[in-house]
Order: sequence, then structure tokens, then C-alpha cells
Amino acid sequence: MRANIKVLDCHMHLLTADTQREALAWLPPMSPPVAAAARRRLGRYEREQNVPSAQPADETVAAAAGRWLSEFDQYGVTAAVFLPLAPRPDTLRRFAARQPERLIPFTFVNPWEAGADKILEEDILQRGFRGLKLYPSIQGFHASDERAYAVYAQAEALSCPILFHFGVTLDYRSDLRYSNPLDLHPVARDFPGLALVVAHAGAGFFRETLMLAYHCANILVDTSGSGTWMRYLPRPLTRRDVVERLLDVFGPERILYGSDSRHASEGYRHWLLREHREILETLRVPEDDQRKILGGNMARLLQIPW
Ligand SMILES: [Zn+2]
Repeated sequence: MRANIKVLDCHMHLLTADTQREALAWLPPMSPPVAAAARRRLGRYEREQNVPSAQPADETVAAAAGRWLSEFDQYGVTAAVFLPLAPRPDTLRRFAARQPERLIPFTFVNPWEAGADKILEEDILQRGFRGLKLYPSIQGFHASDERAYAVYAQAEALSCPILFHFGVTLDYRSDLRYSNPLDLHPVARDFPGLALVVAHAGAGFFRETLMLAYHCANILVDTSGSGTWMRYLPRPLTRRDVVERLLDVFGPERILYGSDSRHASEGYRHWLLREHREILETLRVPEDDQRKILGGNMARLLQIPW
């Protein structure tokens, strides 16, 4: 296995008591019975996935940065993109400022709101953010909604990549009607200079994600996450199947490795990195293409030397 290949993890989260407070202040409140159902569902997920409780550590940004950087050193990760959970992600901004070459922050806006394009411009040009995360099923909008077009135009002008979470997701407030990655088709068509990343290979909408590759060269895909969605298909897939199909359809220039690491108590999901490296070797992916998938492609989107 080629452990010497540099890794830029394209999909991680900062989860601390402060980021949770920021997210809860923004997310719509749930009624007591809905909140109880959400807790039951989260408990089921944690048992099934054998992941630790989602209660985040009450740590400072300096402590969180030190912890992730030492994990990166331990597992051979050069840098990672950290995705926000709410607009104006100030804790994430302060966290990434500790070492911006290795902790790369994306911002978050409500793209239908007046002035969202201006906020994005400030976040990218003045506040150190390098990309945008959008979460249509939680934000309650279709990615194809033309009210979001001012934000897309701004992102294109700034060469700011946008990562979208479509498909199934952990948050109980989500609405699957906004989760179909096919909503990206007109966006990719109308903004050919805009890099659009479909996280988790569509998290269940795998066929739709593959179809997008056929139509639009500016749609990329990330492989992050535990892969729960692979069970929720008429015929379950393995991660190897997924990577193989992505290689065939998207090609090695449009696949981004990600782990979706988030919990302090769980640490870096080094087993997913190992599994990715093994799959790429088993599929006899040339070393140059492995470099792209494991980091070079995201570095290209971010215009950072790699
Ligand atoms: Zn994620």
C-alpha cells in the first residue's frame, strides 16, 4: 500500500459544545414529541454504527486544533476540509485560523436570502473560508431554486467550490424531498465554471449521482462517511463497488476522498482511510490517480499547491 501518498480529507466536521450551540441557535426547534423521536432515532443510529454518543466535547478551538493536528500526524493526513453546521460559523473560523494550511474551513449561507451572495464574498475574501457547504434537506430548498442563483454566480466568480449534502442524513429535521442530487443538473449546466461536489456519492441517490456525471463535467463526488446508505438500496453495495462505479463513470479526476470524521471521542476515522487505500490498490488504480483521489483533486479545486 502506498502510504507515502499525501492526503487531503475533503470532508470533516468540527463538533464542539460551541459549534453545537451555534447549530442549535440556527436550526428550527422541534416540539417535545418530535425531539423524543429524534433522540430515539439517534440512539438507534449510534448502536447500529457503533459510534460514540453525539454529545460534543466542551473544548476550546486551540485544544480542538491541537487534537486534530496530532491525529493527522499520526495517520498521515496533511490537511482536511472542515464543514460547518450553520451560517456564520465563527467557531470554525477561529479553529481553522490556528493553522489554515492544514485546517481548511468552508462556510455556510442560506442561499435564497437577500444579501447571501455578499456574505459569501466577505467570508471568502476577508474571513478565511475556502468553500461553501449547502445542505438542501435541512435548509429546506431545492438546489435548483433560482433564488439561489446569485450565490452560485458569486461562487463561480470567486472560484469557490460548493459541497452539497444530498440523500439520507442523520438530522431528524431533514426532508428527503430536497435531497435528490438531480436538482444540481440545471445548476451545473448554467454555471459551467462552478465546481459542485456531491457528498457521500449522493447518500442513497447513487444512480442519480452517476447520471449527473454523464451530463456535467463540473460535478464531482466525495466518498466520505460510514456508508450506511449502501444498505438502503434494492441491492446493497460495498464501498469497493461504489469506488469501482465512480472510477468508471466520474474518472479519477472527479473523485474526492473524505472520512466525515467529527467526534473527538471517535477520533480520525483512520480505518476508512486504510480501506480507501486498500480498495485503490486492489482495483490497480495507478499511483498518479491515487494521488488525485486522496487529495490532489480537492487541492486543485482550492487552488493550493499539492
Ligand atoms: Zn458530513
